[in-house]
Amino acid sequence: MTVLILALVAVLMLWLAVLLAFSGPLAARWREPVLRQPVLIVESDDWGAGPLAQADALERLSALLQRVRDRGGQPAVMTLGVVFEVPDGVRIAASDYTEYHALPLTETRFDGVRQAMHEGIQAGVFAPQLHGQCHYWPPALIAAAHVDCTVRDWLNSAEPVSTEALPSPLQSRWVDASNLPSRALTAEAIQHAAAAEVAVYQAVFNRVPQVAVATTFVWNDAVEAAWAQAGVEIIITPGHRATCRNAAGQPGCEDATMLTGEHSHAGQTYLVRDVYFEPALGHVPQRLVEGLLARTRQGRACLVETHRFNFLQTRDSSLAALEAGLNAALDACPDLRFVSPLGLAHAIQARNPDWIETRMLPRLRAWRHRLDEVPRFRRVAQLTGLALPLVWLERTA
Ligand SMILES: [Zn+2]
Repeated sequence: MTVLILALVAVLMLWLAVLLAFSGPLAARWREPVLRQPVLIVESDDWGAGPLAQADALERLSALLQRVRDRGGQPAVMTLGVVFEVPDGVRIAASDYTEYHALPLTETRFDGVRQAMHEGIQAGVFAPQLHGQCHYWPPALIAAAHVDCTVRDWLNSAEPVSTEALPSPLQSRWVDASNLPSRALTAEAIQHAAAAEVAVYQAVFNRVPQVAVATTFVWNDAVEAAWAQAGVEIIITPGHRATCRNAAGQPGCEDATMLTGEHSHAGQTYLVRDVYFEPALGHVPQRLVEGLLARTRQGRACLVETHRFNFLQTRDSSLAALEAGLNAALDACPDLRFVSPLGLAHAIQARNPDWIETRMLPRLRAWRHRLDEVPRFRRVAQLTGLALPLVWLERTA
């Protein structure tokens, strides 16, 4: 009997040691708000200055989103990560690639694109957010054009260019990736550029941006501070922050991880976007449903990343896949809610009981599902037998 009690005490001590060893990420996932109902937001980047065919794609997306409604009658919401200029290749070439000139979204040639955005916003299906004044750092683009003929050819396109066709490292706005590994920008340069892009956002949308998402998810504390000063309250993240392009050109120098509802040093609320749905790359509608079900088990919103290129390169099939995915999501989760990132962030900040779970058992169940993502925890829990009470907890809850 004594041996049994000693063994039991040893096992409990072992489990306690494991819980203590992982206390940081476990506690963070306990603090993270648990949503009461499934939530889906389609997050779409790269719209704005660029190919004129966007106007037609946006009109079709707006009509599609208005056809798909949740139980409360709210149509599906798609964010538009907007960029406000592309290079004026003719004028750049005329300067022998020594000066940067831009075609701003405010030009009359982009009237149709702006109008399609505004109409979707009026209809409640588009939520604009700041993606950047441009999808590159202009001095890095000019420096690259001096040495890279593919960049020069890209600048010489007849139509307003697609930044998706730029070499990937150059698509990062907040580093100088003209040489790899990239170089950091000065805080002054970042502050100046952030103030300018907020001003141009305001000129197009008649309000300062409240939500921002960095191009290629490469940004840093200086960018967050500059955005905060300009009025940005919410930052969309993939759950971690890359601050450079490494020697291989990949996003690197990761310096932070974040969960939904956590705050930046500058005070903004982070949201996490980590489901990827790019029909042009072969992603099927079921992928959207699986992402939603997994996030719902974790008590999280499902923020689905999809890009403009789907709706330009393979427009009709991508529209059909998106509509099928949204309808399948409603079939799988009839209590699904559509909302904008701003609406979600405000519900989280206010701990709105209509949105945020306060009951212990549902919170425990969501927490248990979040633990599988903590590196090494799942393996250690299995080896020590801690997985058993956790599974029991999940089933009981
Ligand atoms: Zn982008």
